[in-house]
Amino acid sequence: MTELTAYQAVNQYFADAAHTIDLDEELFAVLTTPYREIAVQVPVRLDDGELIVVRGYRVQHNGARGPYKGGIRYHPTANLDEVRALASLMTWKTALVDVPFGGAKGGVEVDPTGMSEGELQRLTRRFTTSIKHVLGVYRDIPAPDVNTNPKVMAWMMDAYSAVNGYSPAVVTGKPLDLGGAPGREAATGRGCVYVLDAHCTHHGRYLKSQNVAIQGFGNVGSWVARELHARGVPVVAVSDVGGALVQPAGLDVPALVAHVGSGGSITTAGGGDVITNEELLELDCDVLVPAALGEVITEANAARVRAGVVLEAANYPVTPSADKILLDAGITVIPDILANAGGVTGSYFEWSQNIQQFTWKEERFNSELLDRMQGAYRFTQAFAEEHGVPLRQAAYAIGITRVATAVRLRGYV
Ligand code: GLU
Repeated sequence: MTELTAYQAVNQYFADAAHTIDLDEELFAVLTTPYREIAVQVPVRLDDGELIVVRGYRVQHNGARGPYKGGIRYHPTANLDEVRALASLMTWKTALVDVPFGGAKGGVEVDPTGMSEGELQRLTRRFTTSIKHVLGVYRDIPAPDVNTNPKVMAWMMDAYSAVNGYSPAVVTGKPLDLGGAPGREAATGRGCVYVLDAHCTHHGRYLKSQNVAIQGFGNVGSWVARELHARGVPVVAVSDVGGALVQPAGLDVPALVAHVGSGGSITTAGGGDVITNEELLELDCDVLVPAALGEVITEANAARVRAGVVLEAANYPVTPSADKILLDAGITVIPDILANAGGVTGSYFEWSQNIQQFTWKEERFNSELLDRMQGAYRFTQAFAEEHGVPLRQAAYAIGITRVATAVRLRGYV
């Protein structure tokens, strides 16, 4: 069977869930069509004088429940189909955790590794200027995603504010000194652990007794590792693009964070055996956390996954044919739109604080995050049990129902 494109795949997940809730044809058509798609030219002058011209995209998938919301990624394989798929995931994700946003995503088809700060800043400003007419505090609010970070968000906020006046709430995931919220940077990874904790509780298991392998050690993967380690949960393997490190007794996560923070790679950190990323995905462990890019568990390797639970910290790490193989093997998948929704939930907290000009302490941020993430898990789990469907189908069904209700109330159909 040939694999689907990312957008076809997400719509396949959508269709499975739509069937569960008997979604009518008109709503099906509205909800599987993105509202607006922008593709722009982004010329960037490199430090050596050369000019590169790359493509940038912003897809606003559905805004029935609130302003469009979703990250911006910089990656050489970013393309319109993938951005469309990721924008659609944001629509179901924001609805599932019930934050008042729609779904959007952006991407620039560029390899930022090795680019200087000046080059990255010029790229970011040019891209922001090209899409600024569709952004806005109550219109569309970007955030970090793969290869973007608070610094990039600060440049976006500045480029937008230069034209529209001071607008901190137009992007989230900003630096703390520029309207960022304490807790936001860790929120995606922490949220994953809150959900895993609720899953363990539901099944009468101890979180502490789970061995966890994490693919990816960027913002999300490293915070999953830190939060687990802080709770005494053994992190038995982690990886970055160069390879993985495995230690059955549990890795020294703070040492890894320090090593990577000072520019080192995972495979040179010591404290474990070096294996490949592919081998990490096939480790015999309790919980496997894909926390890097999409489509890492496919029809080609799904049958070799030996974890009991796959916690999708990344967006779209498991293709539909792989999902079926995992299901048939009795492996539970905790889907992206639930597992990693802590990021956008934290963005909602940041955005609200910016609008109210009232700041929260990190304790409040984390406790609200915990409530919302574990509440969403329990709601999804209950739906799954009631309808006899996997968690992904339940999560989509809940999200779709909420968006469909808003679409009807607003009179789109
Ligand atoms: N990029 C993150 C995600 O995929 C966060 C999006 C946001 O906060 O808007 O969920």
